[in-house]
Amino acid sequence: MTPSSPHEELLQNVQQDIRAHLGTGRVADYIPALARVDPHQFGLALHTCAGERASVGDCAQGFSIQSVSKVFTLTLALGRVGDALWHRVGREPSGSPFNSIVQLEREHGIPRNPFINAGALVVTDAILAGRPPQVAVAEILAYLRELADDTDITVDREVAQSEADTGFRNASLANFIRAFGNLKNPVGEVLETYFNQCALRMNCVQLARAGLFLAHGGVDPLTGHRVVDAQATRRINALMMTCGHYDASGDFAFRVGLPGKSGVGGGILAIAPRKASIAVWAPGLNEAGNSLVGALALESLSRRTGWSVF
Ligand code: GLN
Repeated sequence: MTPSSPHEELLQNVQQDIRAHLGTGRVADYIPALARVDPHQFGLALHTCAGERASVGDCAQGFSIQSVSKVFTLTLALGRVGDALWHRVGREPSGSPFNSIVQLEREHGIPRNPFINAGALVVTDAILAGRPPQVAVAEILAYLRELADDTDITVDREVAQSEADTGFRNASLANFIRAFGNLKNPVGEVLETYFNQCALRMNCVQLARAGLFLAHGGVDPLTGHRVVDAQATRRINALMMTCGHYDASGDFAFRVGLPGKSGVGGGILAIAPRKASIAVWAPGLNEAGNSLVGALALESLSRRTGWSVF
C-alpha cells in the first residue's frame, strides 16, 4: 500500500522489519480466551502530539490489554490520593517476574513498584476506596473511553471471569498484602476490580490515543484537557522505563529506550516524550511475558526515528 503520510511510511517500514518474526513467541495460555488468539496478528498505531495518526496491520483488532491497564490505574490513583500512594508502593524495579511474591515478606507488604501485580493490587485498592467494585470498574472504563476519545471500549466478561477462576497467585498476593495491612478494602473486592481492569479490551489505535497525555506533560494535546500534573507524568514515564517490562525492563530500555508498559495479551504502550504515543500488539510472548515481536517493532521504530530518550 502506498503510504499516505511519513508516519504511515514509517510504520509500514517497521512492519516490514518484523515480518520474518511474525508468529514467534508463545501466546499466554493460562486462560482459554488468550490461548486461542492467533499469534500471527500484528497491529501498530501511533498518535503524535501534533495530532497526526498512523496505523498498520491489525490495528483495529481489539485485544486484552491486561497489565497495560496498570499505567492508567496508576494515573487514576495518583489523581485520587496523590503522593500518599508512595507510602504504600515503591518505585524500584523488582528484578522478578510480574506475579512474584518473594519480595513481599521481606519488604513488609510494600510492593516494589506499581507495575508488578502486587503493586497494581495496591493501586487498585486505592482507586476502590470503599466503593463497590462495579463502581470502580465503571470509573476505570469511563476513564479509558474518555482518554481514547472512543466509547467502543469494553471489559471482556469472559476474560474477567477466567482471570477470577484461575487467579490463585493474585489471590495469594492480595491476601499477603492485606495481612500487612496494605489493602484497605476486602480482598475479594480488590481482586474483582483488578481482574476486570486486566480484561479491558482495546485496539492499538485506541491505546495509542489513550496514552497520548503521557507524551505531552500530562495534558491531552488534542483536547487541551489536563489528565494529570507534569511531575506525576514524568514519574509515570520513569516507572514505565524502569519497571514496565518486569525483569526484562533493562533489556527493553537498552533496545528501545522508551518508557513502555507491556501486558500478557501481547500489547505494549510506548511513550516518546514530547513526540508521540505508540501502541503495538503481537500476541506471542517472550519468557518474561512481554510481546516478543512487539518489542522488536518498537526497537525498529526507535532506531528509525531516533526517538530513544537516551
Ligand atoms: N492478568 C494477568 C495477571 O494478573 C496480567 C499480567 C500481565 O499482563 N503481565 O496475572
